[in-house]
Amino acid sequence: MKINPVKGTHDIYSSTANDALDLEYTFNVMAMAYGYEPIVIPTLEHTNLFQRSVGESSDIVTKEMYTFLDKAGRSLTLRPEFTAGIMRAVVTNKLYVDNIPLRLFYNGSCFRYERPQAGRYREFHQMGVELIAPTNPGLDAEVIALGFAYLKEIGLNPILKINYLPAKDSREKYLKDLKAFFEPNLDNMCEDCKRRYEINPLRILDCKVPSDREIIEKAPSISTYLSDDDLKHYNEIKRFLGNIGISYEEDDRLVRGLDYYSGIVFEYYFDTDNSDFAGIALGGGGHYDGLLQELDGPSEYSGVGLSFGLERLISAYQNADTEYKGTGMRPIFYMAPLSEEGLDLAHTLATFLHENSVHTILNYEIKSLKSFLKSANKKQARNIIIIGEDELKKGFVTIKNLESGVQHEVAIDDFPEIVFSILKENYEDDDGEIQSLDITKGN
Ligand code: AMP
Repeated sequence: MKINPVKGTHDIYSSTANDALDLEYTFNVMAMAYGYEPIVIPTLEHTNLFQRSVGESSDIVTKEMYTFLDKAGRSLTLRPEFTAGIMRAVVTNKLYVDNIPLRLFYNGSCFRYERPQAGRYREFHQMGVELIAPTNPGLDAEVIALGFAYLKEIGLNPILKINYLPAKDSREKYLKDLKAFFEPNLDNMCEDCKRRYEINPLRILDCKVPSDREIIEKAPSISTYLSDDDLKHYNEIKRFLGNIGISYEEDDRLVRGLDYYSGIVFEYYFDTDNSDFAGIALGGGGHYDGLLQELDGPSEYSGVGLSFGLERLISAYQNADTEYKGTGMRPIFYMAPLSEEGLDLAHTLATFLHENSVHTILNYEIKSLKSFLKSANKKQARNIIIIGEDELKKGFVTIKNLESGVQHEVAIDDFPEIVFSILKENYEDDDGEIQSLDITKGN
């Protein structure tokens, strides 16, 4: 019986799985360079965690959660995003004690019952960071810069959009004025907007229905509602970004799909002529107050986080003209033993290479050289190591570069040294050098 994958889920395999691994690996290395520590949290949480944090007015909570009763009748939900679960873990384990600013990063799958379409899955993967500390514009800017630097590192030209959501009184006033603006238009707007109007009119700004967008364009701009404190903080963030040469577009309609944000919000897009990526965010994030407190944690800390969607990064990466090379799936060496005795030596050498993390294939079989060459080429191996009668007699192996066709006889004693010089030749280039520091950047 053939069993199909669940609607909205997908398998990632072959070279795409390799791209996924590279993209995640680079993200993790980069997050660690900025001082972030890994955290692994459960996929399952109590449903009310998301109701209390992501928010009763968000599409995620109202329409998209995978919620079910377990055998003991508890309402559980497969995580639709990471921030809420991480805040829960921070409170549960008191991770804030003696560890502020707390910098955390994560990778894993999320579940949203959305209509599957290009770039939208029901199970997808996110990677991101959360930074918990007293509010500080430098820390807000750090998270934005980390995401920007990551996209540049993997060879995608980022477009960064930012906006600032005012806090408390100014926000209340804005919401009141938004309601007054939308009220006479409401009959002509979609059902979701009618619901958002009642629960959180800010969310209307996020509506994608074209006829609603025409109305939304005329709504009052959030930027005129920022208090002096908001403006000061926002300007500081922009100054920090400018100092390190990060360019951004301000978009006063950017509100993001989760209720908890207040302060800076941002999204990253892929700068490309390919219209498939128009309006599709690769990632985004923002600042939030009160989330820890809402979960019975300390009130003095706020947070700022970002998350990227792995599937969207993969497709942008595969469509980009990028020089980033990742870790690569091509074997560096393919072992070709032509006799039983040759197999023993191949085994010893392959073990040495494996233990030194050098991508090497040995299939524990003896074949003709012709047939080994065919298999090695099929795997796109860079070099083949031939161990025949002649080689064994003289105590060497033949290493043939399958790209240039050049081959060398290498004495067994010299093998480790030669291997490392091959690796050096192939994998170290100017990209590996540390660039000089240009402190005039952005000024
Ligand atoms: P959000 O948590 O909604 O801010 O989403 C952060 C990122 O996750 C987005 O920018 C997307 O890259 C990705 N993402 C969100 N929803 C989906 C989905 N249904 N399928 C694939 N990627 C998604």
